[in-house]
Amino acid sequence: PTPLGPTPKLVIDLERMQQLPQEKAGPLARYVATIQSQRGDYNGRVLSIRQEDLRSLAVIYDRSPSDLTEELINWGVLDPEARRAVDAF
Ligand code: C2E
Ligand code: C2E
Ligand code: C2E
Repeated sequence: PTPLGPTPKLVIDLERMQQLPQEKAGPLARYVATIQSQRGDYNGRVLSIRQEDLRSLAVIYDRSPSDLTEELINWGVLDPEARRAVDAF
């Protein structure tokens, strides 16, 4: 095992997100689209989001941030490394 580095970033896999059924990914996709539009960042295969945005998404999905993180990892949208970013909350 590699030593723990700095807190990992929350990086959304946009290709994977687009493959998910609408009823799962819909709220996430709308949130991500808003951030892309605010940044003018439309061409990436991934999007780095703020930690506070994961908190907002957890409210939207009516889950705790760590539960939502597990779900996003299960969907393949977040890397398992993201667990450490949420532990740092
Ligand atoms: P803002 O929060 O006032 O940020 C202004 C600019 O500061 C951003 O312009 C960006 O160039 C830089 N900036 C702020 N925080 C960070 C950061 O954590 N990392 C990096 N790399 N740069 C940062 P930008 O990207 O054009 O965004 C414009 C506005 O759009 C932001 O104003 C904010 O209100 C919103 N926004 C953009 N991305 C996000 C996001 O991921 N989450 C949220 N909640 N808002 C975002
Ligand atoms: P990183 O943060 O590990 O990102 C690796 C690559 O993932 C980036 O390579 C880019 O192709 C993609 N990527 C990550 N987040 C986003 C995103 O929100 N939007 C888009 N469109 N692509 C994303 P890239 O651009 O060659 O950057 C290489 C490294 O340079 C980044 O590694 C990061 O360490 C640094 N970097 C680039 N832009 C910024 C920035 O705005 N702020 C900071 N702090 N570092 C940056
Ligand atoms: P990053 O650019 O490598 O920034 C890492 C952390 O440094 C951010 O974590 C935030 O805590 C702090 N930081 C960087 N720039 C600023 C700033 O201008 N103002 C403030 N108050 N803090 C700043 P955070 O917020 O969790 O964001 C994670 C990553 O999401 C950022 O990594 C960046 O890739 C992306 N991001 C977040 N907000 C923005 C934004 O407004 N515009 C862009 N282009 N990227 C953003």
